[in-house]
Amino acid sequence: MKFDIITIFPKIFSAKGGSYLNESILKRAQKNKLIQIKIHNLRDFTKDKHRKVDDRPYGGGPGMVFKIEPLIKAISSILRIKNLELKIKKKIKVILFSPSGKQFDNKMAANLSKNYNQLILISGRYEGIDARIKKVLYDSGFKIQEISIGHYVLTGGELPAMVLIDAISRQIPGVLGKKESLEEKGHGIGVPVYTRPEEFIYKGKKYKVPKVLLSGDHKKIEKWLNKKTNR
Ligand code: SAH
Repeated sequence: MKFDIITIFPKIFSAKGGSYLNESILKRAQKNKLIQIKIHNLRDFTKDKHRKVDDRPYGGGPGMVFKIEPLIKAISSILRIKNLELKIKKKIKVILFSPSGKQFDNKMAANLSKNYNQLILISGRYEGIDARIKKVLYDSGFKIQEISIGHYVLTGGELPAMVLIDAISRQIPGVLGKKESLEEKGHGIGVPVYTRPEEFIYKGKKYKVPKVLLSGDHKKIEKWLNKKTNR
């Protein structure tokens, strides 16, 4: 799976800065070529001296809005095409982030990982992106989706991009090692977990691991885990 992030703050993702994407499981997945993450600076796709990517919103109001042209140039450059003319678009999807988009969940992550091999993630800022980009991409035959990662408003789409990459990547076969389990195949989502010591004593109080987990009775343990999972 290829992930291409379009942003005006590429440093957020830079390996030197110690990006979230360059540690642990996601670092290994990139090394093993199971996923590829590329960062594209939207300002590189402007022509003017000030590398202007945004402008004032029509109709008034505060803030700035991302212009369409640099975005089209960025997408064309990523796909090495001209005028958004791409022959095989089936396995490519452009994802726009918006607090009013479709709520992201694990099912979407699994579907995206299964059905696509390249996701172009547009991280907005300020008041967002000129809404016509959706129509323009659609008219050129692109698959697009507007996604929200939750019911709150962030200052930018960079964290949402990382959230998607993380959740989607762990659904790709081989990304999780033997010791790391995919929730659906292991204990389910949100099951409480415990490790040594069996009895943790703090300020005179004992904190014990649930007895059933120490019983060695696998059937009983499974039943308990099933009861605890929210899936
Ligand atoms: N006033 C705008 C808010 C823009 S927030 C509005 O009402 O839509 C700026 C950018 O942050 C957005 O373009 C989007 O890329 C990102 N963003 C903010 N909150 C988000 C959320 N909950 N999910 C996904 N992206 C979000």
